[in-house]
Amino acid sequence: MDGLVLRLRSLGESDLMLDVFTSSMGRMTALAKGGKRSKQRFFGVLLAGHLLEMNLEATKSPDLWRLGSARVRASHLGLRLDYRRLLAAGPVLELLLRATPLQAPQTGALELALATLARLEQGGDPTEMGSAVAIFLARLLDLLGYGLNLQACLHCGRPVEQMKSLRLTLGGGVVCPACPAGHREHSAPPGLVKFLAAARSMEPRSLARLRLPASQLPLALGFLADFWREVVGHDLPSLGLALRSLRGRSAAPAANSPRR
Ligand SMILES: [Zn+2]
Repeated sequence: MDGLVLRLRSLGESDLMLDVFTSSMGRMTALAKGGKRSKQRFFGVLLAGHLLEMNLEATKSPDLWRLGSARVRASHLGLRLDYRRLLAAGPVLELLLRATPLQAPQTGALELALATLARLEQGGDPTEMGSAVAIFLARLLDLLGYGLNLQACLHCGRPVEQMKSLRLTLGGGVVCPACPAGHREHSAPPGLVKFLAAARSMEPRSLARLRLPASQLPLALGFLADFWREVVGHDLPSLGLALRSLRGRSAAPAANSPRR
């Protein structure tokens, strides 16, 4: 079974607990006996962000598996070559860890995560990386059943297709200009609403070409992060760090700006 390593925790002197995300069973927890010490079986294998081919053995507890053996299928090494890429990839692992239920398959989620990591691994400018993160955040909402209502005003139900100056609300969708402003709303230029709609409806293969203008990225990431915090019900530190890194860079006039 293939699994993306989300987190490693040490257990006692020599063991490691792994949280992994698989396509057939969603998030799973596995114990790697001797994972901290073993120089042979697991050496260089157990790292967050690695996609592993794993042999999992059942234990007495239905929620806990034992990692018999594993080999690396994709190391996503490109992420480790640049800390900004690594920061941008943080929310991918964090959300699969915090927002998905244990042992429940989530169709398309692993595929989306891997496509996002592959795009981040190529690095590129902040707009490229920010777009990849925004697509992940928008599409995962949909995959996990928290989809945003982007067709009609959440308050009055009017279709919003031709409307300008929409707002996005943490209630879960768009609000038209005629409805009174609420305190938990973000402004949403028409391009941003289209981007969010495309991020969830496009063929997975075409997503790599979807890109948001640099000027709209802070709005997109700001709203999606707030909405995800609402969904998960607590803070998401990796997402916060990624946003700060991506925003800092897009606001900076030059690549070597000390403001970063
Ligand atoms: Zn309305």
